[in-house]
Amino acid sequence: SSDRAGTAVPAARLPRRAAAARRAVLLGGALSRRAGIGGGSTVGGHLGLALEPRLLSRLGAGRRIALVSGTNGKTTTTRLLVEALGGSAVVASSLAGANMAAGIVSALASHPAPLAALEVDEGHLPAVAAALAPQVIALLNLSRDQLDRTNEVRMLAGRWREALAGSEALVVANADDPLVVFAAEVAAKRRFVSVGGRWRLDARHCPHCGGTVVFAEDGSWSCACGFRRPEPYATLVDDALVLSDGSTHRLAVALPGRFNQANAAVAAVAAECLGVALDDALAAIGGVEEVAGRFARHRSGDVDLRLLLAKNPAGWAELLELLTAGEGPVVIGINARDADGHDPSWLYDVPFELLAGREVVATGERARDLALRLLHAGVAHRTLHDQAAALAALGAGRADYVGNYTAFQELRRLLAGPSRRAAASAPLVAARPVVAHGATRDSAVRVVVVHPELLGTYGDGGNGQVLADRALWRGLDVELLLAPAGEPLPRGELYLLGGGEDGPQAQAAAALRSGALASAVEAGAAVFAVCAGFQILGHSFPGADGAPVTGVGLLDVVTERGTTRAVGELATEADLGGVAVRLTGFENHAGHTTLGEGVRPLGVVGHGTGNGASGVDGAWQDKVLGSYLHGPALARNPALADALLALATGGVLAPLDDAEEEALRAERFAALGRRGRGAQKSGRAHGR
Ligand code: GLN
Repeated sequence: SSDRAGTAVPAARLPRRAAAARRAVLLGGALSRRAGIGGGSTVGGHLGLALEPRLLSRLGAGRRIALVSGTNGKTTTTRLLVEALGGSAVVASSLAGANMAAGIVSALASHPAPLAALEVDEGHLPAVAAALAPQVIALLNLSRDQLDRTNEVRMLAGRWREALAGSEALVVANADDPLVVFAAEVAAKRRFVSVGGRWRLDARHCPHCGGTVVFAEDGSWSCACGFRRPEPYATLVDDALVLSDGSTHRLAVALPGRFNQANAAVAAVAAECLGVALDDALAAIGGVEEVAGRFARHRSGDVDLRLLLAKNPAGWAELLELLTAGEGPVVIGINARDADGHDPSWLYDVPFELLAGREVVATGERARDLALRLLHAGVAHRTLHDQAAALAALGAGRADYVGNYTAFQELRRLLAGPSRRAAASAPLVAARPVVAHGATRDSAVRVVVVHPELLGTYGDGGNGQVLADRALWRGLDVELLLAPAGEPLPRGELYLLGGGEDGPQAQAAAALRSGALASAVEAGAAVFAVCAGFQILGHSFPGADGAPVTGVGLLDVVTERGTTRAVGELATEADLGGVAVRLTGFENHAGHTTLGEGVRPLGVVGHGTGNGASGVDGAWQDKVLGSYLHGPALARNPALADALLALATGGVLAPLDDAEEEALRAERFAALGRRGRGAQKSGRAHGR
């Protein structure tokens, strides 16, 4: 490392109280490391903040600071930025992932460098930016992730925008992500970088006018209201960064994947904003081969394992190109702890279909959720909850491991520890055929997923896949149709609506009020609607500003904003054609729904909130059903899926082998029993 961007000299003298708090941070960190509690990166920070609430701004005073935030790529980009600024000897930086106030306090307390590059959790960016007054804020992307904590991607974008409107920082922002641009465009100083990105499903609803953001072939985007991709200062083209002045700068990145080139481009421009020559920054970045274990290769016995991290659909969308080109089995570890998000419904937004042909081992605490998803992706798989056992089950040769946040951390600990050849095996579940989206044939049972680009935020698109597959597996002629808003609603026998954010939900309702859905129901179609979709089917529901929005009126229900947001596992008992069936899922909603005279609930709540104070969930009126269950509901409750199929086809359905479904259900109900009602996470609404 060189000293071109600064040398390590003590930061500005700290006031007495802050100096004492800083010593407490270091002591707390050392003690927790010795006791083996985590890496000591946050324990000390919490202690220090308790002693001096202004510690963050005190430790930041007098330093030049760059913050890095976004849903994906924070840790990698921060690491690349550190290299570009001269290396970790001269730049204070976070330990991977310790990106909330306490972790940042620890990072600054333990390194006196006058320069800092810090990753910041998306939700904590406003507070951290206010405390640290950074020179540069680099913004990578925004997409669905840990929605049980963040509630909506759009709410995050709105809070970023408020924070950046008053910031002095030079904001380096991804021009290709409309939600990032929405936040960054109000900054007094900004530099847009065009780095692309595959995931667009959280940005189709215009944050300015509620219209539709349209993406062009070349990645540019615009809305009719005038909101459009800004002129980039720099554009990533193949392996070069092309500046608006026409100059071309070679970007050679050792890390794999197009997304890492994007991270490198943002890091390089951020470094340039702090005074490093762009080509020097790019050269330093090019040498990085692994970041906190990610992208590293690890030999474990005869297995040559590549370690990858992906924790949400956008991350997976970028990673799949690496995996389809990879060799040997793929081990996928899925947990659902605090740092992962408690609702793994998002697995249904990942096109695991692309892994067909590779042998997949589902592992981690939520291996069962993944296994069922793989069944609906047509991917052969084994299920082994224990990650050590999953590794032990691999034969010799190359393999890929992909984990979400805490699963990845646990795997690294396992690999660092003494090798444990846990003898374990699990039967291979063969790939079943699954339904692909297709054009309409009149003979088929048509399952229509309504406005997935607006009502698909919480993973409910999986309901369409599950229904169609369960029809196919019984030999029925079935088609799965995706029906975006703005196009005529296709005719079908079964319509599915999913959860969505407040703004997109109002946009979907406006499109559906045209009457196409109502006439389909009149013609005998069945409907299953979840959360935002359920609310839309009623008379009215609250819009993003809280004012009532008119619904479609197919269900005699009204939704109003509750005092707390209901977030957590939801379990109910339903009467499905005279059979009592327990339903399991996950709820995440601010609206509370009241049933009118002509409608009965779908289930009685045993755990969670459901419609609200009434102790019931959902609604059922003729062939129209609504519920607050995500999961997706029809994956976790095959009996409900079959009740809908029976409603739509009028026929008697042959039984299926539901072993994977039953295993998942047993696990979910057992988890409720263990944690009890007290574990229900409720009322964690942000800004409500
Ligand atoms: N936006 C609606 C609410 O908060 C629905 C949320 C959802 O679909 N998960 O009530």
